[in-house]
Amino acid sequence: MGYPLDRVELPSGALLFAEGDLGEAAYLIQSGEIEIFVAREGADVILARRGPGDIVGEMAVIVRGKRSAAARTVSDCVLLVVTEPQISGRLEHADPILRMCFRVVADRYLQMASLLRNVNGDNPTARTQPVSLPEFQAAIGALSVEADLRRALQSDELVFYFQPIVRLATQRLAGFEALIRWRHPKRGLVEPDEFIPVVESSGFVVEITKWCLGQAAKIIPQILAAAAPNTTGAEPLYLSINISGHDLLDPSFNARVAETLERSGVPPASLKLEVTESTLLKDPARAADSLKACRELGVEAAIDDFGAGYSSLSYVSKLPMAMLKIAPSFVLSMALDPTTRKIIQLILRLADELGIPVVAEGIEETSEAIALMEMGCAFGQGYLFGRPAPLSQTLDLIRCWTSLNTRLPPRRVPTRRNILASPLPIG
Ligand code: C2E
Ligand code: CA
Repeated sequence: MGYPLDRVELPSGALLFAEGDLGEAAYLIQSGEIEIFVAREGADVILARRGPGDIVGEMAVIVRGKRSAAARTVSDCVLLVVTEPQISGRLEHADPILRMCFRVVADRYLQMASLLRNVNGDNPTARTQPVSLPEFQAAIGALSVEADLRRALQSDELVFYFQPIVRLATQRLAGFEALIRWRHPKRGLVEPDEFIPVVESSGFVVEITKWCLGQAAKIIPQILAAAAPNTTGAEPLYLSINISGHDLLDPSFNARVAETLERSGVPPASLKLEVTESTLLKDPARAADSLKACRELGVEAAIDDFGAGYSSLSYVSKLPMAMLKIAPSFVLSMALDPTTRKIIQLILRLADELGIPVVAEGIEETSEAIALMEMGCAFGQGYLFGRPAPLSQTLDLIRCWTSLNTRLPPRRVPTRRNILASPLPIG
C-alpha cells in the first residue's frame, strides 16, 4: 500500500503497511510513534519501535522487494514520504563507489532475510540484485583513478598549462587560466576531462585544489616578474585557477587562499578563482559565504562555463562573482547556429546590466573575436590567442607580448583555419 502524498497524517492504531506489501515508499517520522511487527502463530511479535527522526519501511524500497514486516502507528503520527523513484533517481547520480557499496549492502540484506526465512521453514522469496557489471566497472574506474592520482600528487606528475586571456579591444594580455595536465608515466599527457569529473564526484578534488593553490603561489611571482619590465602602471596580470563547489564547502579553503597570498607575496588581484555553476548548486548559501570571504581577501571569482548548466542571472547576481565565462561550446557553435548567437547576446546584455565583465572562451577564429567584441564582450580566450602551454613557453610569451605592448606576438600554433598569420585587425 503506497501513499501518493509526500506527507501523511495517521491516527493512533492505523496500519501503515502490511507484511508482504510491495515497498513503494519509506517514511520519515516527523511526529508520533510507529511499531514494526510480524504476525506469528496468531500473535503479533513486536520487532521495533520508531519515533521522530527515525525512518521506517526503507529496506523494501531499497531492495525493491516485499515488506518483511508490518508497521502501525501507536500514537497520532505525521510522516514524510520518500518514494522509490526519489531514492533510485538519486542513486543513479551518486558517486559510483557509493552506488556499488549501497547495492552490496542491499544484496547482503536480501541474502540474510532469505536465510532467516529458510531457518524459519518459510519459502525463500528474496531475489538478490547483484551489482551489475557496468556498476562494478564504474566503481573500479573511480577507485583506480583516485589511487593513481594520490600517487601522482606525491610524485610530481601533475603540471599546469597556461592559456592567455586577452582584452578583445586592445589585444592586451589580461591574465592566464591555469589548466591542469597529468604527465602519466605510461599514458603520456592526460587531459583533465579524463580525471577531473571523477575526483569532482568524490570530493577528492579538494586535494587537487590544494595542489593548485600551492602551484599558484610559486608561479604568479614568475608571471608578474616576466611582465614587469613592460607593464608599469598597468593592471597586473592574473592567474585564474579552477576550483570546485566542494572547495567552497571546505572550512579550511579560505585560510588556504590567504596563505597562498601570504606565501607568494603577490597582490590579491593577481589570483582569481573559476568555479562552475553546477558544482555550486550543492549548497549555494555556504558557497556564497566562502566566495565573500575570498573577496574580502581581494581574490575575485568567475562563474565558469556560464550558459552550459542551470544558471539564471538572478541566481548569479546573488553570488559574489566578478566575472562570467561563456563556455567554449557556445562560441564554437555561434557561427552556425543563430539561436546560440542570440543566447550569447542575451548573456552579454544581462551581464552588462549587472556590471559583470564577460570572458568568451573557445575563440578560434578572428571573425569570432570581432563578432564577440562588437556584441560587447570585453575578454576572450581560445586557440586564436594561444593554446594551453607549459610554464617556460608561457613566460616567453609574456615577455614577447608585453614588449609588443598591444599587439599579439607572431603565432606559433595553427588554428582551425589558420587565418591569423599577422596581428588581429582589431584594437
Ligand atoms: P574549462 O575551465 O571550461 O576550461 C576550458 C577548456 O576549453 C580547456 O580544456 C581549454 O583547453 C579548452 N579550450 C580553450 N580554448 C579553446 C578553443 O579555442 N577551442 C576548443 N575546442 N577548446 C578550447 P581543458 O584544458 O581540457 O580543461 C577541461 C576542463 O577541466 C576545464 O574546463 C576545467 O573544468 C577542468 N580543469 C582544468 N584544470 C583544472 C584544475 O586545475 N582544477 C579543476 N578543478 N578543474 C580543472
Ligand atoms: Ca575554467
